[in-house]
Amino acid sequence: MAIITNAPRGTQDVLPSQSYKWQYIEQMALDIARLHGFREIRFPVFEHTELFNRSVGDTTDVVQKEMYTFEDKGGRSITLRPEGTAGAMRAILQNGLLNDALPLKASYLISCFRYEKPQAGRLREFHQFGVEMAGAGSYAADAQVIALAKAIFDALGIEGLALELNSIGCPTCRAEYHKALREYFAAHKDQLCDTCKGRLEKNPMRILDCKNPACAEIAKGAPVVLDYICDDCRAHFEGLKGNLDAMGIAYTVNPTIVRGLDYYTRTVFEFVTTGIGAQGTVCGGGRYDGLIELLGGQPTPSVGFAMGLERLLLVMEQQGCGFAPEQKCTMYIGSIGDAAQQKAAGLTAALREEGFYVECDAVGRSVKAQMKYADKLGAKFSCILGDNEIEAGKVRIKRMDKGEITEVALDQEALVQYIYHNTIDEIVEYE
Ligand code: ATP
Ligand code: MG
Repeated sequence: MAIITNAPRGTQDVLPSQSYKWQYIEQMALDIARLHGFREIRFPVFEHTELFNRSVGDTTDVVQKEMYTFEDKGGRSITLRPEGTAGAMRAILQNGLLNDALPLKASYLISCFRYEKPQAGRLREFHQFGVEMAGAGSYAADAQVIALAKAIFDALGIEGLALELNSIGCPTCRAEYHKALREYFAAHKDQLCDTCKGRLEKNPMRILDCKNPACAEIAKGAPVVLDYICDDCRAHFEGLKGNLDAMGIAYTVNPTIVRGLDYYTRTVFEFVTTGIGAQGTVCGGGRYDGLIELLGGQPTPSVGFAMGLERLLLVMEQQGCGFAPEQKCTMYIGSIGDAAQQKAAGLTAALREEGFYVECDAVGRSVKAQMKYADKLGAKFSCILGDNEIEAGKVRIKRMDKGEITEVALDQEALVQYIYHNTIDEIVEYE
Protein backbone atom coordinates (compact mmCIF):
# COMPACT_ATOMS: atom_id res chain seq x y z
CA MET A 1 0.00 0.00 0.00
CA ALA A 2 2.65 2.44 1.03
CA ILE A 3 4.10 2.27 -2.43
CA ILE A 4 0.91 3.85 -3.79
CA THR A 5 0.71 6.67 -1.27
CA ASN A 6 4.43 7.52 -1.20
CA ALA A 7 6.02 9.26 -4.17
CA PRO A 8 9.36 7.91 -5.44
CA ARG A 9 12.41 9.17 -3.53
CA GLY A 10 13.75 12.48 -4.76
CA THR A 11 10.49 13.76 -6.25
CA GLN A 12 8.38 16.66 -5.02
CA ASP A 13 4.71 17.53 -5.35
CA VAL A 14 3.74 21.15 -5.92
CA LEU A 15 0.47 21.61 -4.06
CA PRO A 16 -2.35 23.96 -5.10
CA SER A 17 -1.45 26.36 -2.27
CA GLN A 18 2.12 26.71 -3.54
CA SER A 19 1.78 26.54 -7.33
CA TYR A 20 1.36 30.31 -7.72
CA LYS A 21 5.02 30.69 -6.74
CA TRP A 22 6.09 28.35 -9.53
CA GLN A 23 3.83 30.09 -12.03
CA TYR A 24 5.29 33.43 -11.01
CA ILE A 25 8.91 32.30 -11.44
CA GLU A 26 8.22 30.51 -14.72
CA GLN A 27 6.29 33.39 -16.26
CA MET A 28 8.90 35.92 -15.15
CA ALA A 29 11.75 33.88 -16.64
CA LEU A 30 9.92 33.43 -19.96
CA ASP A 31 8.92 37.11 -20.11
CA ILE A 32 12.37 38.48 -19.35
CA ALA A 33 13.93 36.05 -21.82
CA ARG A 34 11.43 37.25 -24.45
CA LEU A 35 12.60 40.84 -23.88
CA HIS A 36 16.10 39.58 -24.65
CA GLY A 37 14.91 37.90 -27.85
CA PHE A 38 14.54 34.28 -26.67
CA ARG A 39 11.39 32.36 -27.63
CA GLU A 40 10.35 29.13 -25.97
CA ILE A 41 11.20 25.73 -27.47
CA ARG A 42 9.62 22.47 -26.22
CA PHE A 43 11.09 19.03 -26.76
CA PRO A 44 10.52 15.50 -25.45
CA VAL A 45 11.09 14.30 -21.90
CA PHE A 46 12.95 11.27 -23.32
CA GLU A 47 15.46 10.89 -26.12
CA HIS A 48 17.66 8.13 -27.53
CA THR A 49 20.28 7.34 -24.89
CA GLU A 50 23.01 7.83 -27.46
CA LEU A 51 22.23 11.58 -27.66
CA PHE A 52 23.24 12.10 -24.04
CA ASN A 53 26.18 9.68 -24.15
CA ARG A 54 27.61 11.69 -27.02
CA SER A 55 26.80 15.25 -26.05
CA VAL A 56 26.86 15.29 -22.26
CA GLY A 57 29.86 12.96 -22.50
CA ASP A 58 30.53 9.43 -21.31
CA THR A 59 33.17 10.52 -18.78
CA THR A 60 30.74 12.73 -16.83
CA ASP A 61 28.99 11.88 -13.56
CA VAL A 62 25.66 12.48 -15.26
CA VAL A 63 26.22 9.80 -17.91
CA GLN A 64 28.23 7.38 -15.77
CA LYS A 65 26.02 7.37 -12.69
CA GLU A 66 22.89 9.49 -12.89
CA MET A 67 20.83 8.71 -15.97
CA TYR A 68 17.40 7.08 -15.95
CA THR A 69 17.92 4.70 -18.86
CA PHE A 70 15.62 1.89 -19.90
CA GLU A 71 14.74 -0.25 -22.86
CA ASP A 72 11.32 0.48 -24.34
CA LYS A 73 9.00 -2.20 -25.65
CA GLY A 74 10.53 -1.80 -29.09
CA GLY A 75 13.97 -2.68 -27.74
CA ARG A 76 15.40 0.89 -28.03
CA SER A 77 17.55 2.38 -25.31
CA ILE A 78 15.75 5.45 -24.03
CA THR A 79 16.85 8.01 -21.41
CA LEU A 80 14.81 10.56 -19.47
CA ARG A 81 16.53 13.91 -20.13
CA PRO A 82 19.08 14.74 -17.42
CA GLU A 83 19.49 18.29 -18.81
CA GLY A 84 18.12 20.47 -21.59
CA THR A 85 20.89 21.43 -23.98
CA ALA A 86 21.19 18.06 -25.75
CA GLY A 87 17.47 17.79 -26.51
CA ALA A 88 17.13 21.46 -27.44
CA MET A 89 20.06 21.26 -29.84
CA ARG A 90 18.77 18.01 -31.33
CA ALA A 91 15.41 19.67 -31.98
CA ILE A 92 17.07 22.79 -33.42
CA LEU A 93 19.15 20.69 -35.80
CA GLN A 94 16.42 18.27 -36.81
CA ASN A 95 14.06 21.12 -37.66
CA GLY A 96 16.64 23.09 -39.63
CA LEU A 97 16.39 26.16 -37.41
CA LEU A 98 20.02 27.03 -38.05
CA ASN A 99 19.20 27.73 -41.72
CA ASP A 100 17.42 30.95 -40.70
CA ALA A 101 19.05 34.17 -39.58
CA LEU A 102 21.50 33.53 -36.75
CA PRO A 103 21.88 33.63 -33.84
CA LEU A 104 19.04 31.28 -33.04
CA LYS A 105 17.81 32.16 -29.54
CA ALA A 106 15.60 29.71 -27.65
CA SER A 107 14.50 29.28 -24.03
CA TYR A 108 13.09 26.21 -22.29
CA LEU A 109 11.25 25.30 -19.11
CA ILE A 110 11.68 21.59 -18.39
CA SER A 111 11.70 18.75 -15.89
CA CYS A 112 15.01 16.84 -15.66
CA PHE A 113 15.85 13.44 -14.19
CA ARG A 114 19.04 12.34 -12.47
CA TYR A 115 19.58 9.39 -10.18
CA GLU A 116 21.29 11.29 -7.35
CA LYS A 117 21.36 11.17 -3.58
CA PRO A 118 18.37 13.34 -2.65
CA GLN A 119 18.96 16.23 -0.22
CA ALA A 120 17.92 19.87 0.08
CA GLY A 121 18.20 21.38 -3.42
CA ARG A 122 19.11 18.04 -5.00
CA LEU A 123 16.29 15.93 -6.37
CA ARG A 124 15.82 13.08 -8.81
CA GLU A 125 13.15 14.97 -10.68
CA PHE A 126 13.94 18.66 -10.79
CA HIS A 127 13.18 21.62 -13.05
CA GLN A 128 15.24 23.99 -15.10
CA PHE A 129 14.81 27.20 -16.99
CA GLY A 130 17.47 27.49 -19.64
CA VAL A 131 18.45 29.29 -22.84
CA GLU A 132 20.53 28.48 -25.90
CA MET A 133 22.05 30.99 -28.31
CA ALA A 134 23.37 29.16 -31.39
CA GLY A 135 25.44 30.68 -34.16
CA ALA A 136 27.20 33.39 -32.13
CA GLY A 137 30.88 32.87 -31.40
CA SER A 138 31.74 36.26 -29.97
CA TYR A 139 32.31 36.98 -26.30
CA ALA A 140 29.50 39.50 -26.75
CA ALA A 141 27.07 36.55 -26.89
CA ASP A 142 28.46 35.14 -23.64
CA ALA A 143 27.97 38.53 -22.00
CA GLN A 144 24.37 38.79 -23.24
CA VAL A 145 23.47 35.34 -21.98
CA ILE A 146 24.99 36.11 -18.57
CA ALA A 147 23.17 39.46 -18.54
CA LEU A 148 19.88 37.64 -19.17
CA ALA A 149 20.40 35.32 -16.20
CA LYS A 150 21.22 38.37 -14.07
CA ALA A 151 18.12 40.21 -15.33
CA ILE A 152 15.91 37.27 -14.31
CA PHE A 153 17.41 37.21 -10.79
CA ASP A 154 16.92 40.98 -10.54
CA ALA A 155 13.31 40.81 -11.72
CA LEU A 156 12.58 38.14 -9.10
CA GLY A 157 14.11 40.35 -6.42
CA ILE A 158 16.96 37.95 -5.62
CA GLU A 159 20.06 39.57 -4.16
CA GLY A 160 23.61 38.60 -3.44
CA LEU A 161 24.17 35.87 -6.02
CA ALA A 162 27.87 35.73 -6.87
CA LEU A 163 28.82 35.34 -10.54
CA GLU A 164 31.89 33.16 -10.90
CA LEU A 165 33.65 32.97 -14.23
CA ASN A 166 36.32 30.84 -15.85
CA SER A 167 37.65 29.83 -19.25
CA ILE A 168 38.44 26.20 -19.96
CA GLY A 169 39.98 26.89 -23.38
CA CYS A 170 39.39 25.20 -26.71
CA PRO A 171 40.37 21.69 -27.90
CA THR A 172 43.74 23.05 -29.05
CA CYS A 173 44.92 24.57 -25.78
CA ARG A 174 43.17 21.92 -23.73
CA ALA A 175 45.47 19.22 -25.13
CA GLU A 176 48.41 20.93 -23.41
CA TYR A 177 46.41 21.29 -20.23
CA HIS A 178 45.27 17.66 -20.26
CA LYS A 179 48.91 16.63 -20.53
CA ALA A 180 49.83 18.66 -17.45
CA LEU A 181 46.82 17.34 -15.53
CA ARG A 182 47.59 13.75 -16.46
CA GLU A 183 51.15 14.11 -15.19
CA TYR A 184 49.95 15.68 -11.95
CA PHE A 185 47.18 13.15 -11.21
CA ALA A 186 49.29 10.16 -12.30
CA ALA A 187 51.59 10.95 -9.37
CA HIS A 188 48.55 10.61 -7.03
CA LYS A 189 46.84 7.77 -8.87
CA ASP A 190 46.60 5.45 -5.85
CA GLN A 191 44.51 7.95 -3.88
CA LEU A 192 41.96 8.62 -6.67
CA CYS A 193 38.53 6.96 -6.67
CA ASP A 194 37.97 4.19 -9.21
CA THR A 195 35.90 6.41 -11.49
CA CYS A 196 38.67 9.00 -11.59
CA LYS A 197 41.33 6.37 -12.26
CA GLY A 198 39.36 5.64 -15.42
CA ARG A 199 39.12 9.37 -16.25
CA LEU A 200 42.88 9.83 -16.02
CA GLU A 201 43.47 8.74 -19.61
CA LYS A 202 40.15 9.69 -21.20
CA ASN A 203 39.35 13.08 -19.67
CA PRO A 204 41.49 14.16 -16.69
CA MET A 205 39.61 17.48 -16.36
CA ARG A 206 36.60 15.55 -15.04
CA ILE A 207 38.64 14.65 -11.95
CA LEU A 208 38.50 18.34 -10.98
CA ASP A 209 34.71 18.07 -10.73
CA CYS A 210 34.65 14.82 -8.69
CA LYS A 211 32.61 15.00 -5.49
CA ASN A 212 34.73 12.31 -3.75
CA PRO A 213 36.54 14.09 -0.84
CA ALA A 214 39.90 12.38 -1.53
CA CYS A 215 39.82 13.39 -5.20
CA ALA A 216 38.71 16.92 -4.29
CA GLU A 217 41.67 17.24 -1.92
CA ILE A 218 44.18 16.17 -4.58
CA ALA A 219 42.48 18.44 -7.14
CA LYS A 220 43.32 21.46 -4.99
CA GLY A 221 46.98 21.26 -6.03
CA ALA A 222 46.31 20.60 -9.71
CA PRO A 223 47.54 22.86 -12.53
CA VAL A 224 45.11 25.69 -13.34
CA VAL A 225 43.55 25.87 -16.81
CA LEU A 226 43.88 29.66 -17.13
CA ASP A 227 47.66 29.20 -17.19
CA TYR A 228 47.33 27.06 -20.32
CA ILE A 229 44.77 28.77 -22.57
CA CYS A 230 45.87 29.98 -26.03
CA ASP A 231 45.95 33.61 -27.17
CA ASP A 232 42.58 33.40 -28.93
CA CYS A 233 40.89 31.94 -25.86
CA ARG A 234 42.54 34.53 -23.66
CA ALA A 235 41.36 37.37 -25.93
CA HIS A 236 37.83 35.92 -25.78
CA PHE A 237 37.95 35.82 -21.98
CA GLU A 238 39.28 39.38 -21.73
CA GLY A 239 36.59 40.58 -24.16
CA LEU A 240 33.88 38.97 -22.06
CA LYS A 241 35.18 40.56 -18.87
CA GLY A 242 35.23 43.94 -20.66
CA ASN A 243 31.60 43.51 -21.75
CA LEU A 244 30.51 42.55 -18.22
CA ASP A 245 32.32 45.62 -16.85
CA ALA A 246 30.54 47.78 -19.42
CA MET A 247 27.19 46.28 -18.36
CA GLY A 248 27.95 46.86 -14.69
CA ILE A 249 27.81 43.14 -13.87
CA ALA A 250 30.16 42.13 -11.06
CA TYR A 251 32.02 38.81 -11.24
CA THR A 252 34.99 36.97 -9.80
CA VAL A 253 37.29 34.70 -11.76
CA ASN A 254 37.24 31.23 -10.22
CA PRO A 255 39.79 28.97 -11.92
CA THR A 256 38.36 25.84 -10.29
CA ILE A 257 35.06 25.95 -12.17
CA VAL A 258 35.11 23.35 -14.94
CA ARG A 259 31.37 22.48 -15.10
CA GLY A 260 29.96 18.99 -14.97
CA LEU A 261 29.32 18.34 -18.66
CA ASP A 262 31.81 17.49 -21.39
CA TYR A 263 30.62 19.83 -24.08
CA TYR A 264 31.86 23.14 -22.70
CA THR A 265 34.58 25.22 -24.40
CA ARG A 266 36.04 28.57 -23.35
CA THR A 267 33.60 30.42 -21.09
CA VAL A 268 32.05 28.64 -18.10
CA PHE A 269 30.16 30.40 -15.33
CA GLU A 270 27.99 29.84 -12.27
CA PHE A 271 25.72 31.97 -10.11
CA VAL A 272 26.25 30.86 -6.54
CA THR A 273 24.65 31.60 -3.17
CA THR A 274 25.70 30.60 0.32
CA GLY A 275 22.19 30.95 1.76
CA ILE A 276 20.57 27.58 0.96
CA GLY A 277 23.07 25.00 2.17
CA ALA A 278 25.52 22.87 0.29
CA GLN A 279 23.73 23.00 -3.08
CA GLY A 280 24.47 26.66 -3.70
CA THR A 281 24.80 26.71 -7.49
CA VAL A 282 21.58 28.21 -8.74
CA CYS A 283 22.61 28.61 -12.37
CA GLY A 284 25.35 27.12 -14.51
CA GLY A 285 26.28 27.82 -18.08
CA GLY A 286 28.89 28.44 -20.67
CA ARG A 287 29.96 28.09 -24.26
CA TYR A 288 29.85 24.87 -26.27
CA ASP A 289 31.34 25.52 -29.66
CA GLY A 290 31.80 21.87 -30.63
CA LEU A 291 28.42 20.47 -29.61
CA ILE A 292 26.40 20.98 -32.80
CA GLU A 293 29.15 19.48 -34.93
CA LEU A 294 29.30 16.55 -32.52
CA LEU A 295 25.59 16.00 -33.17
CA GLY A 296 26.14 15.99 -36.94
CA GLY A 297 25.50 19.65 -37.80
CA GLN A 298 27.74 22.33 -39.32
CA PRO A 299 30.21 23.84 -36.82
CA THR A 300 28.07 26.38 -34.93
CA PRO A 301 29.39 28.15 -31.84
CA SER A 302 26.79 28.29 -29.07
CA VAL A 303 26.34 29.52 -25.53
CA GLY A 304 23.68 29.08 -22.87
CA PHE A 305 22.76 28.47 -19.25
CA ALA A 306 20.37 26.46 -17.10
CA MET A 307 19.02 27.50 -13.71
CA GLY A 308 17.59 25.07 -11.19
CA LEU A 309 14.08 26.20 -10.26
CA GLU A 310 13.91 24.32 -6.93
CA ARG A 311 17.08 26.08 -5.80
CA LEU A 312 15.81 29.40 -7.15
CA LEU A 313 12.63 28.99 -5.11
CA LEU A 314 14.66 28.11 -1.98
CA VAL A 315 16.71 31.30 -2.38
CA MET A 316 13.58 33.41 -2.89
CA GLU A 317 11.92 31.97 0.20
CA GLN A 318 15.07 32.35 2.23
CA GLN A 319 15.40 36.00 1.15
CA GLY A 320 11.71 36.73 1.68
CA CYS A 321 11.17 37.75 -1.96
CA GLY A 322 7.61 38.61 -2.99
CA PHE A 323 5.54 36.53 -5.36
CA ALA A 324 2.57 37.97 -7.27
CA PRO A 325 -0.27 37.45 -4.78
CA GLU A 326 -2.65 34.64 -5.54
CA GLN A 327 -5.97 35.72 -6.97
CA LYS A 328 -8.67 35.57 -4.31
CA CYS A 329 -12.29 34.72 -5.02
CA THR A 330 -14.24 37.80 -6.15
CA MET A 331 -17.77 36.63 -5.41
CA TYR A 332 -19.43 33.66 -3.77
CA ILE A 333 -23.01 33.07 -4.91
CA GLY A 334 -24.74 31.02 -2.25
CA SER A 335 -28.14 29.38 -2.71
CA ILE A 336 -31.04 27.82 -0.81
CA GLY A 337 -33.21 25.30 -2.65
CA ASP A 338 -33.21 23.83 -6.14
CA ALA A 339 -34.53 26.81 -8.11
CA ALA A 340 -31.95 29.11 -6.48
CA GLN A 341 -29.17 26.61 -7.12
CA GLN A 342 -30.07 26.62 -10.83
CA LYS A 343 -30.01 30.42 -10.90
CA ALA A 344 -26.69 30.52 -8.99
CA ALA A 345 -25.13 28.04 -11.42
CA GLY A 346 -26.19 30.18 -14.41
CA LEU A 347 -24.95 33.44 -12.91
CA THR A 348 -21.65 31.88 -11.85
CA ALA A 349 -20.98 30.65 -15.38
CA ALA A 350 -21.90 34.05 -16.84
CA LEU A 351 -19.66 36.00 -14.45
CA ARG A 352 -16.74 33.62 -15.03
CA GLU A 353 -17.15 34.32 -18.74
CA GLU A 354 -16.75 38.00 -17.90
CA GLY A 355 -13.39 37.13 -16.37
CA PHE A 356 -14.26 37.12 -12.66
CA TYR A 357 -13.27 34.41 -10.18
CA VAL A 358 -16.70 33.34 -8.93
CA GLU A 359 -17.73 30.33 -6.88
CA CYS A 360 -21.02 28.69 -5.97
CA ASP A 361 -22.00 25.58 -4.06
CA ALA A 362 -20.99 22.27 -5.61
CA VAL A 363 -21.39 20.12 -2.53
CA GLY A 364 -25.01 20.63 -1.41
CA ARG A 365 -24.05 22.42 1.81
CA SER A 366 -26.30 24.37 4.18
CA VAL A 367 -26.31 28.16 3.79
CA LYS A 368 -24.26 28.52 6.94
CA ALA A 369 -21.63 26.08 5.67
CA GLN A 370 -21.62 27.85 2.28
CA MET A 371 -20.84 31.19 3.93
CA LYS A 372 -18.08 29.60 5.99
CA TYR A 373 -16.59 28.26 2.80
CA ALA A 374 -16.87 31.70 1.14
CA ASP A 375 -14.87 33.08 4.06
CA LYS A 376 -12.25 30.41 3.63
CA LEU A 377 -11.87 31.29 -0.06
CA GLY A 378 -11.32 34.90 0.98
CA ALA A 379 -14.29 35.95 -1.19
CA LYS A 380 -14.55 39.72 -1.55
CA PHE A 381 -18.33 39.70 -2.02
CA SER A 382 -21.05 37.18 -1.30
CA CYS A 383 -24.79 36.83 -1.73
CA ILE A 384 -27.43 34.22 -1.01
CA LEU A 385 -30.19 33.36 -3.47
CA GLY A 386 -33.50 31.87 -2.34
CA ASP A 387 -37.07 31.77 -3.62
CA ASN A 388 -37.72 35.30 -2.31
CA GLU A 389 -34.77 36.79 -4.23
CA ILE A 390 -35.82 35.06 -7.42
CA GLU A 391 -39.41 36.29 -7.06
CA ALA A 392 -38.38 39.88 -6.26
CA GLY A 393 -35.59 39.90 -8.90
CA LYS A 394 -33.28 41.46 -6.35
CA VAL A 395 -30.37 40.25 -4.26
CA ARG A 396 -28.45 41.63 -1.28
CA ILE A 397 -24.67 41.61 -1.82
CA LYS A 398 -22.39 41.64 1.18
CA ARG A 399 -18.97 43.17 1.01
CA MET A 400 -17.17 40.68 3.22
CA ASP A 401 -14.35 42.88 4.59
CA LYS A 402 -16.61 45.78 5.67
CA GLY A 403 -19.90 43.97 6.20
CA GLU A 404 -21.62 46.57 3.95
CA ILE A 405 -24.82 45.38 2.27
CA THR A 406 -26.08 46.62 -1.10
CA GLU A 407 -29.23 45.55 -2.90
CA VAL A 408 -28.93 45.09 -6.67
CA ALA A 409 -31.06 43.62 -9.46
CA LEU A 410 -30.68 39.87 -9.82
CA ASP A 411 -29.18 39.75 -13.29
CA GLN A 412 -25.79 39.39 -14.84
CA GLU A 413 -25.54 43.01 -16.00
CA ALA A 414 -26.28 44.45 -12.54
CA LEU A 415 -23.82 42.10 -10.83
CA VAL A 416 -21.05 42.96 -13.29
CA GLN A 417 -21.71 46.68 -12.75
CA TYR A 418 -21.62 46.19 -8.99
CA ILE A 419 -18.30 44.29 -9.08
CA TYR A 420 -16.64 46.81 -11.40
CA HIS A 421 -17.86 49.70 -9.31
CA ASN A 422 -16.63 48.19 -6.06
CA THR A 423 -13.24 47.01 -7.30
CA ILE A 424 -12.39 50.09 -9.34
CA ASP A 425 -9.77 51.22 -6.79
CA GLU A 426 -7.88 47.98 -7.18
CA ILE A 427 -8.10 48.07 -10.96
CA VAL A 428 -6.67 51.61 -11.05
CA GLU A 429 -3.99 50.66 -8.56
CA TYR A 430 -3.05 47.61 -10.63
CA GLU A 431 -2.62 49.64 -13.80
P1 ATP B 1 25.77 20.20 -9.09
O1 ATP B 1 27.23 20.51 -9.09
O2 ATP B 1 24.99 20.91 -8.04
O3 ATP B 1 25.49 18.73 -9.16
P2 ATP B 1 25.54 20.29 -11.93
O4 ATP B 1 26.82 20.84 -12.41
O5 ATP B 1 25.32 18.82 -11.97
O6 ATP B 1 25.23 20.82 -10.45
P3 ATP B 1 24.09 21.41 -14.17
O7 ATP B 1 24.11 20.17 -14.97
O8 ATP B 1 24.96 22.51 -14.58
O9 ATP B 1 24.33 21.05 -12.62
O10 ATP B 1 22.59 21.93 -14.07
C1 ATP B 1 22.27 23.32 -14.00
C2 ATP B 1 21.53 23.66 -12.73
O11 ATP B 1 20.48 22.74 -12.50
C3 ATP B 1 22.38 23.57 -11.47
O12 ATP B 1 23.11 24.74 -11.29
C4 ATP B 1 21.31 23.41 -10.41
O13 ATP B 1 20.74 24.66 -10.07
C5 ATP B 1 20.29 22.57 -11.10
N1 ATP B 1 20.43 21.15 -10.73
C6 ATP B 1 21.32 20.24 -11.21
N2 ATP B 1 21.12 19.02 -10.66
C7 ATP B 1 20.08 19.17 -9.80
C8 ATP B 1 19.36 18.26 -8.93
N3 ATP B 1 19.67 16.97 -8.86
N4 ATP B 1 18.35 18.76 -8.20
C9 ATP B 1 17.98 20.06 -8.27
N5 ATP B 1 18.61 20.96 -9.07
C10 ATP B 1 19.64 20.52 -9.84
MG1 MG C 1 25.39 17.28 -10.59
